[in-house]
Amino acid sequence: MFARDIGIDLGTANVLIHVKGKGIILNEPSVVAIDRQLEKVLAVGEEARRMVGRTPGNISAIRPLKDGVIANFEITEAMLKHFINKLDVKGFLSKPRILICCPTNITSVEQKAIREAAMKSGGKKVILEEEPKIAAIGAGMDIFQPSGNMVVDIGGGTTDVAVLSMGEIVTSSSLKMAGDKLDMEILQYIKREYKLLIGERTAEDIKISVGTVFPGARNEEIDIRGRDMVSGLPRTITVRSEEIEKALHESVALIVQASKSVLERTPPELSADIIDRGVILTGGGALLHGIDQLLSDELKVPVLIAENPMECVAIGTGIMLENLDKLPVRNYS
Ligand code: ADP
Ligand code: MG
Repeated sequence: MFARDIGIDLGTANVLIHVKGKGIILNEPSVVAIDRQLEKVLAVGEEARRMVGRTPGNISAIRPLKDGVIANFEITEAMLKHFINKLDVKGFLSKPRILICCPTNITSVEQKAIREAAMKSGGKKVILEEEPKIAAIGAGMDIFQPSGNMVVDIGGGTTDVAVLSMGEIVTSSSLKMAGDKLDMEILQYIKREYKLLIGERTAEDIKISVGTVFPGARNEEIDIRGRDMVSGLPRTITVRSEEIEKALHESVALIVQASKSVLERTPPELSADIIDRGVILTGGGALLHGIDQLLSDELKVPVLIAENPMECVAIGTGIMLENLDKLPVRNYS
């Protein structure tokens, strides 16, 4: 009898679940819709995401992990349980081990609560791991050798920069500047320049379809609709790549700066390895147009985008679980 080990990427924007032998079987936004009057969960995941910005007064569509800290624990727990229950773990032949990757800066109280939620949902053993480490493994890096590997994971709420060697983080930095803040910069820019109010979803659409962070690298435009601040009526405007590059410039500079400071604090032998292997980008923010070019220009090292950057952590949990028994003994029990 074998247990199907489960790996969970509990991200600020998306939750992915990997099941041994099956691959990634769940990929949904980290959103929960609740009815505040009835104190009831109405929808979780994709269904809840469609409600963001479109709910009547008594309903809220909440992203419980939004800034990379657990803003609302009860809702995080409800979401985690909902997703695990969907897998019907209790119907598994034997209780699985569950490996969960959560934002790097959550407190020990929050870690304990996540562990308990997973145990209650049917886990035999619950292991928590640091996200950049698992992202690096999922991106195909062999981080267990005595050599330097650098990963920059740009998610929704946080960017995690880490240099790893022999399976552990050597230097790292975590900042609350990532995809969501970039969307907010775009929203503010449109408000300032065009006196037009748009929602977060529209701002994200602009970022993905015409945005770039490398000057001159993209030249596209998109028509977007919003509410005119003066007349109060709907209005359409055209936004160009060049404008978005300017709007995102300062925010993206913080990601560049954090990456530089991690490199500066890295022991020289490991830096040399990073020059050879390059920096790997993971997370949805790795798809940000021009980010690889910008970082390699600024850091003077090769920068590569991982294959399927949004799935690296989930894939990494699968690899980690496969190798758990073979790895040098650490406190995994
Ligand atoms: P988390 O690990 O925090 O859940 P993800 O790794 O799932 O985050 O990444 C989510 C972020 O990636 C969002 O901010 C989203 O806007 C951004 N993103 C997704 N696709 C793209 C794209 N093609 N271009 C730019 N940003 C993207
Ligand atoms: Mg992530």
